[in-house]
Amino acid sequence: GIIQHYTLRRPCRTMILVNPHSGRGQALQLFTGHIRAMLTEASVPYTLVITEHQNHARELVRNADLTQWDALVIMSGDGLLFEVINGLMEREDWQQAIQTPLGMLPGGSGNALAASIHHYSQSPPAWNEELLLSCGFMLCKGLVGPLDLVSVHLASSQRLFSFLSLAWGFVADVDIESEKYRHVGAIRFLMGTLATRPPFTPQQASPKPGTQGNNKTASPTDSLLPSLDQPVPENWTVVNEEDFVLVLAIYQSHLAEDLWTVPGAMADDGLIHLFYVTAGISRPALLRLFLAMERGSHLACGCPHLVYEKVRALRLEPVSQQGMITVDGEVVEYGPIQAQVHPRMARLICP
Ligand code: ADP
Ligand code: MG
Repeated sequence: GIIQHYTLRRPCRTMILVNPHSGRGQALQLFTGHIRAMLTEASVPYTLVITEHQNHARELVRNADLTQWDALVIMSGDGLLFEVINGLMEREDWQQAIQTPLGMLPGGSGNALAASIHHYSQSPPAWNEELLLSCGFMLCKGLVGPLDLVSVHLASSQRLFSFLSLAWGFVADVDIESEKYRHVGAIRFLMGTLATRPPFTPQQASPKPGTQGNNKTASPTDSLLPSLDQPVPENWTVVNEEDFVLVLAIYQSHLAEDLWTVPGAMADDGLIHLFYVTAGISRPALLRLFLAMERGSHLACGCPHLVYEKVRALRLEPVSQQGMITVDGEVVEYGPIQAQVHPRMARLICP
Protein backbone atom coordinates (compact mmCIF):
# COMPACT_ATOMS: atom_id res chain seq x y z
CA GLY A 1 0.00 0.00 0.00
CA ILE A 2 0.97 3.54 0.67
CA ILE A 3 3.60 4.68 3.11
CA GLN A 4 1.66 6.47 5.77
CA HIS A 5 4.10 6.74 8.63
CA TYR A 6 6.58 9.39 9.39
CA THR A 7 9.00 9.61 12.26
CA LEU A 8 9.00 12.29 14.91
CA ARG A 9 11.83 14.76 14.65
CA ARG A 10 14.73 14.22 17.01
CA PRO A 11 14.96 15.26 19.71
CA CYS A 12 11.23 15.00 20.13
CA ARG A 13 10.04 17.65 22.57
CA THR A 14 7.22 15.88 24.35
CA MET A 15 4.62 17.16 26.75
CA ILE A 16 3.37 14.32 28.93
CA LEU A 17 0.06 14.98 30.65
CA VAL A 18 -0.60 12.78 33.68
CA ASN A 19 -3.94 12.50 35.45
CA PRO A 20 -2.85 11.47 38.96
CA HIS A 21 -6.37 10.24 39.79
CA SER A 22 -6.89 8.04 36.75
CA GLY A 23 -7.18 4.30 37.16
CA ARG A 24 -6.35 3.32 40.71
CA GLY A 25 -4.59 6.62 41.23
CA GLN A 26 -1.25 5.18 40.19
CA ALA A 27 -0.55 6.87 36.88
CA LEU A 28 2.31 8.91 38.25
CA GLN A 29 3.91 5.92 39.98
CA LEU A 30 3.52 3.89 36.79
CA PHE A 31 5.22 6.64 34.85
CA THR A 32 8.12 6.87 37.29
CA GLY A 33 8.47 3.13 37.59
CA HIS A 34 8.20 2.09 33.95
CA ILE A 35 8.45 4.96 31.49
CA ARG A 36 10.85 7.57 32.84
CA ALA A 37 14.01 5.50 32.43
CA MET A 38 12.91 4.35 29.00
CA LEU A 39 12.53 7.92 27.76
CA THR A 40 15.87 8.94 29.25
CA GLU A 41 17.54 5.95 27.58
CA ALA A 42 15.99 6.93 24.24
CA SER A 43 16.96 10.60 24.75
CA VAL A 44 13.38 11.83 24.50
CA PRO A 45 13.20 15.22 26.22
CA TYR A 46 9.89 15.58 27.99
CA THR A 47 8.03 17.87 30.33
CA LEU A 48 5.68 16.26 32.80
CA VAL A 49 2.42 18.09 33.48
CA ILE A 50 0.25 16.74 36.28
CA THR A 51 -3.38 17.71 35.80
CA GLU A 52 -5.02 19.38 38.77
CA HIS A 53 -8.66 19.20 37.81
CA GLN A 54 -11.05 18.12 35.10
CA ASN A 55 -10.58 20.18 31.91
CA HIS A 56 -7.11 21.33 33.02
CA ALA A 57 -5.50 19.53 30.08
CA ARG A 58 -8.14 20.87 27.74
CA GLU A 59 -7.51 24.47 28.77
CA LEU A 60 -3.78 23.95 28.66
CA VAL A 61 -3.62 22.65 25.07
CA ARG A 62 -6.19 25.19 23.95
CA ASN A 63 -3.80 27.97 24.92
CA ALA A 64 -0.39 26.30 24.54
CA ASP A 65 2.30 27.52 22.16
CA LEU A 66 2.36 24.37 20.05
CA THR A 67 5.55 25.37 18.25
CA GLN A 68 7.26 24.33 21.50
CA TRP A 69 6.07 20.73 21.27
CA ASP A 70 6.62 17.88 18.84
CA ALA A 71 4.20 15.54 20.59
CA LEU A 72 1.50 15.57 23.24
CA VAL A 73 1.35 12.36 25.24
CA ILE A 74 -1.37 11.33 27.66
CA MET A 75 -0.60 9.11 30.65
CA SER A 76 -4.12 8.41 31.86
CA GLY A 77 -7.27 6.77 30.56
CA ASP A 78 -9.14 7.67 27.40
CA GLY A 79 -10.88 10.58 29.14
CA LEU A 80 -7.79 12.75 29.21
CA LEU A 81 -7.11 12.27 25.51
CA PHE A 82 -10.72 13.28 24.87
CA GLU A 83 -9.96 16.54 26.68
CA VAL A 84 -6.78 17.13 24.70
CA ILE A 85 -8.38 16.48 21.32
CA ASN A 86 -11.28 18.79 22.09
CA GLY A 87 -8.93 21.45 23.41
CA LEU A 88 -6.96 21.31 20.16
CA MET A 89 -10.12 21.50 18.05
CA GLU A 90 -11.32 24.58 19.97
CA ARG A 91 -8.31 26.57 18.84
CA GLU A 92 -8.47 29.07 16.04
CA ASP A 93 -5.56 27.27 14.41
CA TRP A 94 -7.23 23.88 14.87
CA GLN A 95 -6.17 22.74 11.42
CA GLN A 96 -2.52 22.90 12.41
CA ALA A 97 -3.05 22.14 16.07
CA ILE A 98 -4.78 18.82 15.45
CA GLN A 99 -1.74 17.72 13.41
CA THR A 100 0.32 17.61 16.60
CA PRO A 101 1.26 13.94 17.09
CA LEU A 102 -0.65 12.45 20.02
CA GLY A 103 0.56 9.56 22.14
CA MET A 104 -1.11 7.33 24.66
CA LEU A 105 0.41 5.69 27.73
CA PRO A 106 -2.23 3.60 29.51
CA GLY A 107 -2.66 4.74 33.10
CA GLY A 108 -6.42 4.79 33.52
CA SER A 109 -9.21 2.36 34.09
CA GLY A 110 -10.36 2.69 30.49
CA ASN A 111 -7.40 2.25 28.15
CA ALA A 112 -9.24 1.45 24.94
CA LEU A 113 -7.03 3.45 22.60
CA ALA A 114 -3.82 2.07 24.10
CA ALA A 115 -5.17 -1.47 23.74
CA SER A 116 -6.20 -0.72 20.15
CA ILE A 117 -2.83 0.75 19.18
CA HIS A 118 -1.07 -2.22 20.72
CA HIS A 119 -3.36 -4.50 18.73
CA TYR A 120 -2.58 -2.66 15.48
CA SER A 121 1.06 -3.61 16.05
CA GLN A 122 -0.05 -7.25 15.55
CA SER A 123 1.47 -8.15 18.90
CA PRO A 124 -0.29 -10.70 21.09
CA PRO A 125 -2.67 -9.14 23.63
CA ALA A 126 -1.08 -7.35 26.59
CA TRP A 127 -2.49 -6.01 29.82
CA ASN A 128 -1.49 -3.63 32.56
CA GLU A 129 2.27 -3.04 32.82
CA GLU A 130 2.97 -5.06 29.69
CA LEU A 131 0.63 -2.84 27.68
CA LEU A 132 2.23 0.23 29.22
CA LEU A 133 5.71 -0.94 28.21
CA SER A 134 4.54 -1.63 24.67
CA CYS A 135 3.15 1.90 24.39
CA GLY A 136 6.34 3.29 25.97
CA PHE A 137 8.43 1.61 23.26
CA MET A 138 6.20 3.09 20.56
CA LEU A 139 6.79 6.52 22.03
CA CYS A 140 10.56 5.96 21.94
CA LYS A 141 10.39 4.74 18.34
CA GLY A 142 8.32 7.79 17.39
CA LEU A 143 6.43 6.50 14.36
CA VAL A 144 3.40 8.60 13.55
CA GLY A 145 0.34 7.62 11.53
CA PRO A 146 -3.11 9.07 10.79
CA LEU A 147 -6.05 8.89 13.19
CA ASP A 148 -9.71 9.33 12.23
CA LEU A 149 -11.82 11.64 14.36
CA VAL A 150 -15.58 11.68 14.61
CA SER A 151 -17.47 14.94 14.89
CA VAL A 152 -20.43 14.63 17.27
CA HIS A 153 -23.41 16.98 17.53
CA LEU A 154 -25.60 17.11 20.63
CA ALA A 155 -29.14 18.42 20.87
CA SER A 156 -27.98 21.64 22.54
CA SER A 157 -26.01 22.26 19.32
CA GLN A 158 -22.73 21.59 21.11
CA ARG A 159 -20.14 19.84 19.07
CA LEU A 160 -17.45 17.42 20.23
CA PHE A 161 -14.66 15.46 18.62
CA SER A 162 -14.36 11.81 19.45
CA PHE A 163 -11.65 9.23 18.75
CA LEU A 164 -13.18 6.11 20.27
CA SER A 165 -16.88 5.57 20.71
CA LEU A 166 -20.40 6.81 20.96
CA ALA A 167 -22.65 4.59 23.04
CA TRP A 168 -26.24 4.47 24.18
CA GLY A 169 -27.76 2.15 26.75
CA PHE A 170 -30.26 1.71 29.52
CA VAL A 171 -28.54 2.56 32.74
CA ALA A 172 -31.00 0.95 35.04
CA ASP A 173 -31.12 -2.41 33.29
CA VAL A 174 -27.46 -2.71 32.65
CA ASP A 175 -26.09 -1.51 35.92
CA ILE A 176 -28.17 -3.85 38.03
CA GLU A 177 -27.05 -6.81 35.95
CA SER A 178 -23.43 -5.82 36.21
CA GLU A 179 -23.59 -6.13 39.96
CA LYS A 180 -24.58 -9.76 39.55
CA TYR A 181 -22.16 -10.93 36.90
CA ARG A 182 -18.61 -9.78 37.09
CA HIS A 183 -18.18 -10.28 33.37
CA VAL A 184 -20.99 -8.00 32.47
CA GLY A 185 -18.57 -5.48 33.89
CA ALA A 186 -17.98 -5.07 30.20
CA ILE A 187 -21.35 -3.46 29.76
CA ARG A 188 -20.91 -1.67 33.00
CA PHE A 189 -17.68 -0.32 31.69
CA LEU A 190 -19.67 0.97 28.74
CA MET A 191 -22.24 2.76 30.82
CA GLY A 192 -22.40 2.05 34.49
CA THR A 193 -19.25 3.27 36.14
CA LEU A 194 -19.67 6.55 34.38
CA ALA A 195 -22.96 7.25 36.08
CA THR A 196 -21.08 8.32 39.17
CA ARG A 197 -19.38 11.12 37.31
CA PRO A 198 -20.98 14.46 36.57
CA PRO A 199 -21.82 14.93 32.90
CA PHE A 200 -18.97 16.40 31.03
CA THR A 201 -19.34 20.18 30.70
CA PRO A 202 -18.59 21.25 27.17
CA GLN A 203 -16.56 24.39 26.80
CA GLN A 204 -16.86 26.63 23.83
CA ALA A 205 -13.87 28.49 22.57
CA SER A 206 -15.01 32.07 22.47
CA PRO A 207 -14.85 33.17 18.83
CA LYS A 208 -12.68 36.23 18.51
CA PRO A 209 -14.18 38.79 16.17
CA GLY A 210 -11.96 40.44 13.61
CA THR A 211 -9.53 37.56 13.14
CA GLN A 212 -10.38 36.62 9.59
CA GLY A 213 -8.54 34.75 6.94
CA ASN A 214 -4.89 33.77 7.18
CA ASN A 215 -4.76 30.01 7.44
CA LYS A 216 -7.46 29.99 10.10
CA THR A 217 -10.88 28.65 9.22
CA ALA A 218 -14.02 27.89 11.17
CA SER A 219 -14.22 24.36 12.53
CA PRO A 220 -14.60 21.55 9.98
CA THR A 221 -17.95 21.17 8.25
CA ASP A 222 -19.89 17.94 8.45
CA SER A 223 -20.99 17.57 4.86
CA LEU A 224 -23.00 14.41 5.56
CA LEU A 225 -25.09 15.82 8.40
CA PRO A 226 -28.19 17.95 8.11
CA SER A 227 -29.11 19.96 11.18
CA LEU A 228 -30.44 17.77 14.00
CA ASP A 229 -33.95 19.17 13.66
CA GLN A 230 -34.08 18.24 9.97
CA PRO A 231 -34.88 14.74 8.69
CA VAL A 232 -31.95 12.61 7.53
CA PRO A 233 -31.28 12.47 3.76
CA GLU A 234 -33.25 9.93 1.74
CA ASN A 235 -30.27 7.74 1.00
CA TRP A 236 -29.77 7.02 4.72
CA THR A 237 -30.89 3.73 6.24
CA VAL A 238 -33.43 4.26 9.00
CA VAL A 239 -33.79 1.53 11.63
CA ASN A 240 -37.15 1.97 13.28
CA GLU A 241 -36.53 -0.14 16.31
CA GLU A 242 -38.26 1.04 19.45
CA ASP A 243 -36.46 -1.30 21.73
CA PHE A 244 -32.70 -1.30 21.49
CA VAL A 245 -30.77 -2.86 24.33
CA LEU A 246 -27.63 -1.00 23.40
CA VAL A 247 -26.17 0.96 20.52
CA LEU A 248 -22.44 1.28 20.12
CA ALA A 249 -20.55 3.20 17.46
CA ILE A 250 -16.82 2.52 17.74
CA TYR A 251 -13.88 3.56 15.58
CA GLN A 252 -11.01 1.61 17.14
CA SER A 253 -10.54 -2.14 17.58
CA HIS A 254 -10.86 -2.24 21.36
CA LEU A 255 -13.39 -0.85 23.79
CA ALA A 256 -11.23 -1.89 26.73
CA GLU A 257 -8.07 -3.90 27.26
CA ASP A 258 -10.13 -7.10 27.21
CA LEU A 259 -12.87 -6.11 24.76
CA TRP A 260 -11.82 -6.73 21.18
CA THR A 261 -14.94 -5.21 19.70
CA VAL A 262 -14.07 -4.64 16.05
CA PRO A 263 -11.76 -7.31 14.66
CA GLY A 264 -10.98 -5.42 11.44
CA ALA A 265 -10.84 -1.84 12.65
CA MET A 266 -7.87 0.42 11.97
CA ALA A 267 -7.10 3.87 13.38
CA ASP A 268 -7.56 5.36 9.91
CA ASP A 269 -10.08 3.11 8.14
CA GLY A 270 -12.44 6.06 7.69
CA LEU A 271 -15.28 4.07 9.22
CA ILE A 272 -17.66 4.16 12.13
CA HIS A 273 -18.32 0.57 13.19
CA LEU A 274 -21.94 0.54 14.29
CA PHE A 275 -23.26 -2.25 16.51
CA TYR A 276 -26.66 -2.55 18.04
CA VAL A 277 -28.43 -5.17 20.07
CA THR A 278 -32.18 -5.41 19.64
CA ALA A 279 -34.72 -6.28 22.31
CA GLY A 280 -35.65 -9.87 22.92
CA ILE A 281 -32.11 -11.04 23.54
CA SER A 282 -31.92 -13.18 26.66
CA ARG A 283 -29.60 -12.15 29.43
CA PRO A 284 -27.40 -15.23 29.07
CA ALA A 285 -27.13 -14.51 25.34
CA LEU A 286 -26.06 -10.94 26.06
CA LEU A 287 -23.53 -12.24 28.54
CA ARG A 288 -22.23 -14.72 25.94
CA LEU A 289 -21.73 -11.89 23.46
CA PHE A 290 -19.60 -9.94 25.88
CA LEU A 291 -17.61 -12.99 26.88
CA ALA A 292 -16.98 -13.74 23.21
CA MET A 293 -15.77 -10.16 22.74
CA GLU A 294 -12.71 -10.95 24.84
CA ARG A 295 -11.60 -13.09 21.90
CA GLY A 296 -13.15 -10.92 19.21
CA SER A 297 -15.48 -13.78 18.28
CA HIS A 298 -18.88 -12.19 19.12
CA LEU A 299 -19.74 -11.64 15.45
CA ALA A 300 -19.28 -15.35 14.83
CA CYS A 301 -21.83 -16.23 17.52
CA GLY A 302 -24.66 -16.00 15.02
CA CYS A 303 -26.70 -13.97 17.48
CA PRO A 304 -29.76 -12.64 15.58
CA HIS A 305 -30.05 -9.70 17.96
CA LEU A 306 -26.60 -8.32 17.20
CA VAL A 307 -26.34 -6.12 14.11
CA TYR A 308 -23.09 -4.76 12.72
CA GLU A 309 -22.81 -2.11 9.99
CA LYS A 310 -19.95 0.02 8.74
CA VAL A 311 -21.08 3.62 8.31
CA ARG A 312 -19.69 7.13 7.82
CA ALA A 313 -22.38 9.02 9.66
CA LEU A 314 -25.21 8.22 12.02
CA ARG A 315 -27.98 9.77 14.03
CA LEU A 316 -29.48 8.36 17.20
CA GLU A 317 -32.88 9.52 18.42
CA PRO A 318 -33.66 8.03 21.83
CA VAL A 319 -37.37 7.43 22.38
CA SER A 320 -37.03 6.37 25.99
CA GLN A 321 -36.54 8.97 28.67
CA GLN A 322 -34.33 6.63 30.61
CA GLY A 323 -30.88 5.95 29.33
CA MET A 324 -27.39 7.23 29.01
CA ILE A 325 -25.19 8.41 26.18
CA THR A 326 -21.43 8.44 26.37
CA VAL A 327 -18.83 9.79 23.98
CA ASP A 328 -15.35 8.27 24.43
CA GLY A 329 -16.63 6.99 27.78
CA GLU A 330 -17.64 10.43 29.02
CA VAL A 331 -21.31 11.05 29.79
CA VAL A 332 -22.91 13.67 27.54
CA GLU A 333 -26.36 15.24 27.57
CA TYR A 334 -29.16 12.82 26.83
CA GLY A 335 -31.13 13.33 23.64
CA PRO A 336 -30.80 13.16 19.86
CA ILE A 337 -27.19 12.91 18.75
CA GLN A 338 -25.48 12.62 15.38
CA ALA A 339 -21.97 12.04 14.16
CA GLN A 340 -19.78 11.93 11.09
CA VAL A 341 -16.30 10.54 10.60
CA HIS A 342 -13.43 12.76 9.43
CA PRO A 343 -10.82 10.40 8.06
CA ARG A 344 -7.23 11.07 9.14
CA MET A 345 -7.94 14.35 10.86
CA ALA A 346 -5.43 13.75 13.67
CA ARG A 347 -2.07 12.06 14.10
CA LEU A 348 -1.16 9.29 16.44
CA ILE A 349 2.09 7.79 17.70
CA CYS A 350 1.56 4.21 16.62
CA PRO A 351 3.39 0.97 15.88
P1 ADP B 1 -9.93 6.75 33.84
O1 ADP B 1 -9.74 5.82 32.69
O2 ADP B 1 -9.29 6.20 35.07
O3 ADP B 1 -11.34 7.11 34.00
P2 ADP B 1 -9.45 9.26 32.51
O4 ADP B 1 -8.21 9.72 31.85
O5 ADP B 1 -10.53 8.79 31.62
O6 ADP B 1 -9.08 8.07 33.52
O7 ADP B 1 -9.93 10.42 33.45
C1 ADP B 1 -11.15 10.38 34.12
C2 ADP B 1 -11.74 11.77 34.21
O8 ADP B 1 -10.96 12.59 35.05
C3 ADP B 1 -11.80 12.48 32.88
O9 ADP B 1 -13.08 13.06 32.74
C4 ADP B 1 -10.74 13.56 33.00
O10 ADP B 1 -11.10 14.68 32.24
C5 ADP B 1 -10.78 13.88 34.46
N1 ADP B 1 -9.55 14.46 35.03
C6 ADP B 1 -8.36 14.70 34.44
N2 ADP B 1 -7.46 15.19 35.31
C7 ADP B 1 -8.10 15.27 36.51
C8 ADP B 1 -7.71 15.69 37.82
N3 ADP B 1 -6.48 16.12 38.07
N4 ADP B 1 -8.64 15.63 38.79
C9 ADP B 1 -9.86 15.16 38.55
N5 ADP B 1 -10.30 14.74 37.35
C10 ADP B 1 -9.43 14.79 36.33
MG1 MG C 1 -11.99 7.25 31.41
